[in-house]
Amino acid sequence: MEQQGVQADIGPARLKAARALATEPVPITALPGVGPRLAERLHRLGIHSVEDALLHLPLRYQDRSRITPISQLVSGAEAQIEADVIGSEVTAHGRRFLLCRLHDATGGLTLRFFHFNPTQQQLLGQTGARLRCFGEVRQGYSGLEMIHPECRRLEPNTPPVADQLTPIYPSTAGLQQFTLRGLAEQALLRLKEPTLLPELLPSALRLQLQLMSITDAVRVLHQPPSQASLAELESGHHPARRRLAFEEMLAHQLSLRRLRERIRRHDAPPLAGDGGLIQRFLERLPFTLTAAQQRVVREINADLAQPRPMLRLLQGDVGSGKTVVAAIAALRAVETGAQAALMAPTELLAEQHYHNFQNWLGELGIVVAWLTGRLTGRARRMLLERLALGEIHITVGTHALFQESVAFAELALAIIDEQHRFGVHQRLALSQKGQQSGRRPHQLIMTATPIPRTLAMSAYADLDTSVIDELPPGRQPIRTVAAPDSRREDVISRIRQACRNGRQAYWVCPLIEESEALQCQAASVTAERLAALLPELRIGLVHGRLLSASKETTMAAFKAGELDLLVATTVIEVGVDVPNASLMIVENAERLGLAQLHQLRGRIGRGNTESSCVLLYRPPLSPTAHARLGVLRECNDGFEIARRDLELRGPGEVLGTRQTGEQDLRVADLLRDQDLLNAARYAADQLLRDYPDCVEPLIRRWIGADVRYGEV
Ligand code: ADP
Ligand code: MG
Repeated sequence: MEQQGVQADIGPARLKAARALATEPVPITALPGVGPRLAERLHRLGIHSVEDALLHLPLRYQDRSRITPISQLVSGAEAQIEADVIGSEVTAHGRRFLLCRLHDATGGLTLRFFHFNPTQQQLLGQTGARLRCFGEVRQGYSGLEMIHPECRRLEPNTPPVADQLTPIYPSTAGLQQFTLRGLAEQALLRLKEPTLLPELLPSALRLQLQLMSITDAVRVLHQPPSQASLAELESGHHPARRRLAFEEMLAHQLSLRRLRERIRRHDAPPLAGDGGLIQRFLERLPFTLTAAQQRVVREINADLAQPRPMLRLLQGDVGSGKTVVAAIAALRAVETGAQAALMAPTELLAEQHYHNFQNWLGELGIVVAWLTGRLTGRARRMLLERLALGEIHITVGTHALFQESVAFAELALAIIDEQHRFGVHQRLALSQKGQQSGRRPHQLIMTATPIPRTLAMSAYADLDTSVIDELPPGRQPIRTVAAPDSRREDVISRIRQACRNGRQAYWVCPLIEESEALQCQAASVTAERLAALLPELRIGLVHGRLLSASKETTMAAFKAGELDLLVATTVIEVGVDVPNASLMIVENAERLGLAQLHQLRGRIGRGNTESSCVLLYRPPLSPTAHARLGVLRECNDGFEIARRDLELRGPGEVLGTRQTGEQDLRVADLLRDQDLLNAARYAADQLLRDYPDCVEPLIRRWIGADVRYGEV
């Protein structure tokens, strides 16, 4: 069936004409019966044009194409029967409901209605009448039942059973299935018009990949023949569905790739100093770079030396040492007299980076500034002035860095520490921080936690990738256990033991309260309780509400070994580096995501003793939480954890894009369809090279108008 589409191809001339004409979408109101009110509801489903309606695919299907004998009904499945009414009654005692007894040649069944109207009551009250009913079969008190089935009386002129599977669409309040079905039927009728949903994939490509035509795919999905496999259709493995998923993934690839090309068309300042500054920096560093860090530095340097903007993603597990790589890249910019900026997703992370950079680079005479949202008035004005004059070499901040009021003298490199929170839009805003010279900065994007390869290839198709696949030497394996809250006392004696042996420990109270104030209060209360239980220990407390200075003093004391136990909110997720700390307790671990727990745990295992992490949870655990804790117990490798995270949570959650709607795929599912990704990448190459006029319409069909990206 799917071969048919490949042969019934349309000629190139028609293809071209169709593409040219397809620029204006046909509004959904062009379909008969779609007035402003219905259109308004359809908009809520993202349906604005007839093409959108065609691409609004069923979630599942009902098989009303056959009649099942009652004796063959299976409890839990939907089925259609034809049977005679033997009798019906409305129960008089307790809750009122309507019962109707039916039988066919093979057996009997009860229909049960909790709500009913007189018409229904009358229909079902006609003993001897023959009915056709569709509904879910359940095991009731006395045999099989259908609750609230759809029923119609069989008359001589009743049409025979459906010859197609019945689609069930994703819907919204006030929108009935039959309306959506009618809409799809109307839209399918217009498929004859070549300008509606034109084939945008070149026939050579379709032949090669054995893809059916788009019109065939859409027809099959809205009106599958009754012999089509329900399982294949509903699991998304039907060739028709895969054809559309492929096209959607291709469109996303194209959109990101074109974006990349546009950015790469601009000039960038080539950064190729003599490396003297970097040499001095490396000499002062208390460690030498790992082989992986050195390789990644070379990859970045090669990009920076080019007169085109670098677009590079830096991946590496927690603690693999991405920050020092970022610092070296920033020094490249400084060395040529230009500026670098580092953008972090939170104020706290920005602060940590600032202190790191300040420590490392201050002595080299490099001016590092921290642009925080808290900086206001005169101080802020002064800082911006120095930035614009080029007196500040490296600026660290949150996205506040890229507000309009912030102007750089010569921004040559923008580094984003992403933590999955920035999307294409922010990356773009960044690239638009052009310089007076009209040149664009190089971009280095660091992810705080690793991303599975498939996800990286689709979400970051506009970036080149560097991976630090090695941890600094001397890291100890971390033993992770999960324990219910009831084991608190054991845990406390473990802390006592570890500290008696001269070790230090973290106690992390994650963010379980809505407000930051309450979170911090919870941490304070915990610290007090622990102090009462462990009077011999020196206990410190850090949380986001404390003054910077007090946080710093506490952290410094912990680092110096003057505190045994540090109670903290997830503030310590980043940037804390105390090799002597070998024990971490995380409370309410069931509330945290895999990536975050892995990131937290990365604070221990940095010294020469074996480290342990105890994940305390409050039972009962949900199945996903159970699976999450299991993954952490078994696995220390961030990339593997990320892969499992993807399976547990899905791509939208892993990338943190669910809320932003970015990478929101309509048909494709990055997990299910990951085997299509390579083909989509290959096809994107081919289209950009050989069929450039397909690119724009494909992007418009699946992603929407170009306005999303503005002027790049
Ligand atoms: P992440 O990749 O998670 O951002 P960081 O950059 O914070 O990791 O580095 C983690 C810790 O490892 C820091 O204390 C850093 O100074 C240290 N570090 C980085 N590279 C090396 C190395 N080559 N040898 C030893 N320690 C290193
Ligand atoms: Mg980091």
